[in-house]
Amino acid sequence: YSEDEKSEDYLFKIVLIGDSAVGKSNLLARFARDEFYPNSKSTIGVEFQTQKMDINGKEIKAQIWDTAGQERFRAVTSAYYRGAVGALLVYDISRRQTFHSIGRWLNELHTHSDMNVVTILVGNKSDLKDIREVSTAEGKALAEAQGLFFMETSALDSSNVAAAFETVVKEIYNILS
Ligand code: GDP
Ligand code: MG
Repeated sequence: YSEDEKSEDYLFKIVLIGDSAVGKSNLLARFARDEFYPNSKSTIGVEFQTQKMDINGKEIKAQIWDTAGQERFRAVTSAYYRGAVGALLVYDISRRQTFHSIGRWLNELHTHSDMNVVTILVGNKSDLKDIREVSTAEGKALAEAQGLFFMETSALDSSNVAAAFETVVKEIYNILS
């Protein structure tokens, strides 16, 4: 390929938000390192992790931000959101309360970042079928009403984890290119 086709640099900041213990840090650990922590503390999160991805033959760096547990105190700062072009809005399908919180997280996201931030609603822990409290249809309906992408994932069994991150990154790339 020619000189100007290569080494075009894309760096997308993507934030993980949602209630404490929904699995944000484990989604990132699964995606970036293929690891899972059965008893993770909310402090395992690094500030951010940069993951190289290939989208349509272009190398893209996704800089994925994770909280260090401050969401427990509703103390996620504006610096966390600043410059974000993508967001994963995560709830736990086995805890309805975390689904109720989504509206609040969406407000916070829109207060602190661009309205056009590409957002996917993620129902995590899809492996916990037996204790599910939020149906797939409910998740889908909320996503449609709010204009969000939607996927159910499991950081435990890996299902849809890469797909969820890739959905956001591909859409950002499509908008920018
Ligand atoms: P965070 O506070 O949102 O970052 O949540 P963590 O990633 O720290 O996860 C909280 C707890 O949920 C930990 O005990 C994880 O092992 C567990 N967990 C995370 N993702 C999943 C999942 O997909 N399935 C199951 N069964 N447990 C999960
Ligand atoms: Mg965490």
